[in-house]
Amino acid sequence: MRYSRQRELVLRQVQSRCDHPTADDIYLAIRDECPGLSLGTVYRNLNGLVEMGRMRRVSIPGMADRFDRTLMDHDHLYCTKCGKVEDVHLDKEPINAMLKDRKDLAIERYSLNLYGVCSECREKESC
Ligand SMILES: [Zn+2]
Ligand SMILES: [Zn+2]
Repeated sequence: MRYSRQRELVLRQVQSRCDHPTADDIYLAIRDECPGLSLGTVYRNLNGLVEMGRMRRVSIPGMADRFDRTLMDHDHLYCTKCGKVEDVHLDKEPINAMLKDRKDLAIERYSLNLYGVCSECREKESC
């Protein structure tokens, strides 16, 4: 009972944000609502929700995992200026075609991590 209430809070928190929060962000945001909540519990709930397909995990090497409410296929830009993770929609057809052509390999999936300057920082730069 308690467990599913916490899971519900974690899910709602991720769904209400578009900033790809980390487990820490979620924990800080809901701990007042949920006395006795631990960071470990937040992690367990997040992992469970990812397994259930209710949210996605965004793994950027060397950084804490982020959690994403957007389930459809998309990629992420890690902003080297402000540290934000932004959604990027790319036409993957050329990459998919190239990978299919590699008959020496059987590639099942891939993930793309983009590094650069996000749209918000770019706007500030051009002011
Ligand atoms: Zn930025
Ligand atoms: Zn995303």
